[in-house]
Amino acid sequence: MPKLLIRNGRVIDPAAGRDEAADVLIENGTIVTVGPALEAPGAEVFEAAGLVVAPGFIDMHVHLREPGAEHTETIETGSRAAAAGGFTSLCPMPNTSPVNDNPTVTRFIIERASRNAVTNVFPIGAITRESAGEKLAAIGSMKKAGAVAISDDGQPVMNARLMRRALETAMSFDLPVIQHCEDLTLSAGGDMHEGSASTRLGLRGIPGCSEDVIVARDILLAEATGARYHVAHVSTRGSIELVARAKARGLPVTCEATPHHMSLADSDMPPYDSNYKMKPPLRSREDVAALVEAIASGVVDAIATDHAPHAGSEKMQEFERCPFGVIGLETALGVVLEALYHTGKVSLARVVELFTAGPARILRLDRGTLAPGAPADVTIFNADLPWTYDLNRSFSKSRNSPFDGRTFRGGPVATIVDGLIVWRRD
Ligand SMILES: [Zn+2]
Repeated sequence: MPKLLIRNGRVIDPAAGRDEAADVLIENGTIVTVGPALEAPGAEVFEAAGLVVAPGFIDMHVHLREPGAEHTETIETGSRAAAAGGFTSLCPMPNTSPVNDNPTVTRFIIERASRNAVTNVFPIGAITRESAGEKLAAIGSMKKAGAVAISDDGQPVMNARLMRRALETAMSFDLPVIQHCEDLTLSAGGDMHEGSASTRLGLRGIPGCSEDVIVARDILLAEATGARYHVAHVSTRGSIELVARAKARGLPVTCEATPHHMSLADSDMPPYDSNYKMKPPLRSREDVAALVEAIASGVVDAIATDHAPHAGSEKMQEFERCPFGVIGLETALGVVLEALYHTGKVSLARVVELFTAGPARILRLDRGTLAPGAPADVTIFNADLPWTYDLNRSFSKSRNSPFDGRTFRGGPVATIVDGLIVWRRD
């Protein structure tokens, strides 16, 4: 395998406490050295002056739609969109068809990824069989097959007794439990956040408390069991406060935030535009401000896209009938830099941490760092580069994004997986 020398970049590696001008030398898919003025005769040179050189970004929450809905995304197309967004590792949620609730499906995803994906793929298994919320899935054997966490994402585990058993079982296999926090009895029939915007548009609302009550219940269960518990796509001030309090008490509770929830509010949605329809819904301005504050203060552990491809035909029905979800792999870094860094709220090192060391810690992956010996996953980005997102040139098979035509300040420049450049901005 060839040598690659990334020269003169600003190396930000939060896991190693590093933020300085340096070179990075890669050999045989592994980080060899990070330091000033490295010599590497015969190496391919990547000139990174003016660019940030970071550990490869990890997206711990995506939907790749394979198996079952390959017309909207495949492991291959999803991974190509990911690479173009600076991501080197993806964790696909189990709500495929069939659901990833047993080791056969887990192995199928890993095997497809090894042949077709340009990024690493670490599958997340289901908590319950078919994510139906009735009986536990084959958690131990999915872990053996390679699952890095369990979740019924798309659905909450509504039954508290079952959730308690899921936490106990996950703990015995040393896996985190990722919850999609939505009390279905409170959110039933809702299409957007319950507030003045939903009233104005005459749409049924999904109240913030539908998220908060599940987070509150689960934190009590996490405390009772001692299990690792992770809140997916946290979106309300209430649930942020609950997570902050749990952390302050030393509980193993973590959470992630999506780029869309930290940048858009319910009132930003053009009337009945289904490219702004997702779960949890875009919340109020106050919730968005609370989320940005929680990211800055360290309550939020990771940024995850919740990339959720849907066919145009599904998203072009009347608003109430449209499925929930937006794509987000290619726009994540641009949106995040704009919402957090260029507003002066969050440092660049912290932004990098949320994409790298943060998710790696939650999932206990041997990634998210440029330490010598680590797999050579590297994301190179420009924090100021202006670029415009053109959906028609997306690598994703789907087009459901609220950011088409947006010009961003800052975005990925090159993505390196296991020492190979898998995407480069042209
Ligand atoms: Zn979800």
